[in-house]
Amino acid sequence: MKVYKFGGASVKSAEAVENVGRIIKDYADDDLWVVVSAMGKTTNALESLIEAYKQMLPTRGQMLLELKAFHTGILDGLFPFSGNEVFLTVNQLFDALESELEKVKQVPFDQAYDAVVSYGELISTHIISAYLDESGLPNTWVDAREMIKTDSRFREAEVDFITTQANLKTRWNRIMNSNSITGKGLMITQGFIASDGKYSTTLGREGSDYTGAIIAWSLDASELSIWKDVPGMLNADPKFFPEAERISSLSYKEAIELSYYGASVIHPRTLKPLQNKDIPLYVRSFIHPEAEGTSIHHDESHDQVRASYIFKQNQVLISIIAQDFSFIMEENLSHIFSLLAKHGLKANLMQNSALSFSICMDDKGERVDAFMKECAGEYKTLYNQGLSLLTVRHYNEAKLAELLTNREVLVEQKSRRTARYVLKGGFTSSSAATP
Ligand code: ASP
Ligand code: MG
Repeated sequence: MKVYKFGGASVKSAEAVENVGRIIKDYADDDLWVVVSAMGKTTNALESLIEAYKQMLPTRGQMLLELKAFHTGILDGLFPFSGNEVFLTVNQLFDALESELEKVKQVPFDQAYDAVVSYGELISTHIISAYLDESGLPNTWVDAREMIKTDSRFREAEVDFITTQANLKTRWNRIMNSNSITGKGLMITQGFIASDGKYSTTLGREGSDYTGAIIAWSLDASELSIWKDVPGMLNADPKFFPEAERISSLSYKEAIELSYYGASVIHPRTLKPLQNKDIPLYVRSFIHPEAEGTSIHHDESHDQVRASYIFKQNQVLISIIAQDFSFIMEENLSHIFSLLAKHGLKANLMQNSALSFSICMDDKGERVDAFMKECAGEYKTLYNQGLSLLTVRHYNEAKLAELLTNREVLVEQKSRRTARYVLKGGFTSSSAATP
């Protein structure tokens, strides 16, 4: 059994959905679980709708109609001649969505958020399942919320793997043993969404990759393929490095390192369950499905073939100095970390010296201000905005020198495999050296 995951961009139009159908037909030679995200930018649109209904904006009804029209447009493209039942199903889903939106103010916000955003995936999977049925790919639509069980931390729920695995196994065995399946089994389900037993929960933005890994882990799949609009994992962001290259092969460990430093190709939680069961992950292009893509597995022998460059823009560097110029001791550090957690901030890089402790983090505006304010009670703080953070894995000195030409370096950290720099100013394509 294999798991294929298709993200929002791969199902953003009728043509895109037809392409997904072709990929399933041409490449799936096994039983298959297909995990699908909401279509295009639907999750963002649902987030805006929540705000609009919360604030009772006069445009809210119109916004909902626009989201519906987007989906109806895709339906019309996929089913030009038939009065397929799915038109009715999608209508009903939009009615149910509207009543969730109307309740937004009566329910705790994060819980209401999950109840609303889960409609993106519910709608997309119903449309895709109906389309595949019509194009000769009979399939079973599965409500992920009945399978994937989590705690009640809405918007970033933790998965109960044991219960989830039991649910998936029972369902899968029942389906495979039923008479309705002749030949291969094809399941269609939602990424990102789950349930705490009572309410819808979600696994965090961009969480559909993780759903793919949860299903692959639970059912001992032979692979997880994530189909994307890029040719695979690249060794740099092509926005900054026009000559970024595809990485054809790397280890789970290296992929986890890269995603820790900020490479954003796959959702960071995706890798661990796969690594635990040694299930390979393929990142493949839905535009060129025949191309090789990237394969991620336990073998570390290819990890050092080329350097990877990870660039984070819009960073701030905060230096914290004890008021009485005493050393920053363990008690100070644990206090500082508790303040970071309290304000929802994450340190991207840290450095300490005898008298100060410096933290580089994403510039989250008000949250950083609030953090600084609380620090100011106990410490002296210095603050530097408009910075960027460059991480280079498997660096070579000549390229580093080229990249750092005419750049002001505020912090440098180097280990055997990784070089990191906090730099003044941002980064543009024209300021980039070739990797
Ligand atoms: N639709 C969700 C999001 O946009 C989940 C995903 O795409 O992975 O965050
Ligand atoms: Mg997405």
